[in-house]
Amino acid sequence: MIIKRLGRNVCLALVLALSIFINFGCASNEQGFDEDFSRYYVGDPLYVQFPFKAGGTYYISQGGHHQSQNYHYWNERYRDLGIYSSMRYAVDIHMIGEAGIDRDVSNPSTLEDFTMFGVTIYSPVDGVVAYVEDGNQDMPPGQRDDENHMGNYLVIEAKGVMVTMLHLKEGSIQVNEGQQIKQGQPIAKVGKSGMSTVPHLHIQATKEDVWYKEPVPMLFDGEFLIRGDKIKIDCSYKDLEG
Ligand SMILES: [Zn+2]
Repeated sequence: MIIKRLGRNVCLALVLALSIFINFGCASNEQGFDEDFSRYYVGDPLYVQFPFKAGGTYYISQGGHHQSQNYHYWNERYRDLGIYSSMRYAVDIHMIGEAGIDRDVSNPSTLEDFTMFGVTIYSPVDGVVAYVEDGNQDMPPGQRDDENHMGNYLVIEAKGVMVTMLHLKEGSIQVNEGQQIKQGQPIAKVGKSGMSTVPHLHIQATKEDVWYKEPVPMLFDGEFLIRGDKIKIDCSYKDLEG
């Protein structure tokens, strides 16, 4: 359980070192292209801070500009709902435990068996809290709430761009609608509410409003993250949760 404790610990800001292991090793240029097009995106990106500080290895399961990288980009379920285009640059973030997967046991019986469950989310932007929804149950392993896609969620407006985070842990949201918040401020914890198969953070950005609007690509600490990227946060650990 050592890795689980480490995963819940929060790094001291001064010693936080975030490094991204990129499969293709290419940085985007100003036009949003790179040499192999794997990190292509369209439109002006939103610069955000990676929303986690707890030491560990994070994994991008969905992200990118093509359906082969990102199921949000084109998905029939979302097409039928008419919201697929606003989700195109959504990113799903998981945490990998000591076993190299997102859980501590092969057959999780509780949500605490997942490395990512309950990990603190820090605001990726300076902004104002636009919407908060809480009170939805975190669904047990093997179940999800197909009637309620978003689950508990939080939307932060940053200069006309809405940054939306879904599937949050019930009762964990620490901010209120209308509240000014700073980048790096703790705001909620990762949960499994809504239509979520395993605990993870879904984050997306859109212009003006959450759905039916133009998607905005996000650069996390300057990187356009795509499926398969791993983000390692290596630091001295300070256990804030006991
Ligand atoms: Zn998602």
